[in-house]
Amino acid sequence: MKLVRRNSASPGVAAVAVRGPGEAINRRRFLGRSGLAVGGTAVAGMLPATMMRKAQAAATSPKENLATEFRRSVCTHCSVGCGVIAEVQNGVWTGQEPDFESPFNLGAHCAKGASVREHGHGERRLRYPMKLSGGKWKRMSWDEAIDEIGDLMQGVREESGPDSVYWLGSAKHSNEQAYLFRKFAAFWGTNNVDHQARICHSTTVAGVANTWGYGAMTNSYNDMHNTRAMFFIGSNPTEAHPVSMQHILRAKENGAKMIVADPRFTRTAAHADLHLQIRPGSDVGIMWGLLWHIFENGWEDQEYINQRVYGMDEIREEVAKWTPEETERVTGVPEATVKAAAQMMA
Ligand code: SF4
Repeated sequence: MKLVRRNSASPGVAAVAVRGPGEAINRRRFLGRSGLAVGGTAVAGMLPATMMRKAQAAATSPKENLATEFRRSVCTHCSVGCGVIAEVQNGVWTGQEPDFESPFNLGAHCAKGASVREHGHGERRLRYPMKLSGGKWKRMSWDEAIDEIGDLMQGVREESGPDSVYWLGSAKHSNEQAYLFRKFAAFWGTNNVDHQARICHSTTVAGVANTWGYGAMTNSYNDMHNTRAMFFIGSNPTEAHPVSMQHILRAKENGAKMIVADPRFTRTAAHADLHLQIRPGSDVGIMWGLLWHIFENGWEDQEYINQRVYGMDEIREEVAKWTPEETERVTGVPEATVKAAAQMMA
């Protein structure tokens, strides 16, 4: 077995491939097999001799002998738009790697992106209508499914009117799909049509647009590399958004301080310079407590407040009640830790 550098036909995909006699395997397969080998050896050591079988060399899969093309694409599961290198054999998308040259995902994917090929080609993907009948899923024809669902829908429409149905689309529809979906609802006779961003974005738009003047992200991930302090509350990107976590860690490498307020010692908290281990439900209390130290020491950004904040006098009145003793009583976080966090942010 020898390590070989791949040629330029494999842009960004693990610069190193591992090759054995008659096969070429990529980084993922190599790691997978190594893991299996290590795990297998450990387990074998624990098994009684009667349960052990002689290892057989696996036959080479015909697919491994096919030439592989590498095509750049983009994960469409969320707005990050991580780069994907699709591995294509004989015109079929057979494998994928994250794009190491993408400035967004820096050679990684979250779990959704790692399975993006499955959406088009997964063996477990539903490709025809199925109906649960007598506790078992049974295949049915498209005509049967359309007739059956159509009849049921017509019944609802006749009985309760077109506005009785809510048509919920998807934020991941393409423009064309969204257009068709909207048209379909219009033909049905209702304007009860929407998608999930109404829930997930209407709140952020209200907050972000009022504060920053624009209801969307104000900065790119790469800006995060230049931050000097980060505060996380209600946020656990290590698990919920591992791609953004890479940029957070890069900011940390660049010297940024990281504060995490969370009742749990999360994987994100494990990276923090300061963990404010608040009692569950005391999120607001810790914010007031931080503000107490900020106002007490004159650490606020007065120019920003003058330009963009209203109601600050009422805020100051409330904050005056959140002395370090009161904050500790409610949140469980000692004064020195709260003050250190406020100072880091300042
Ligand atoms: S963060 Fe995950 S879901 Fe979003 S584009 Fe990247 S890989 Fe896809």
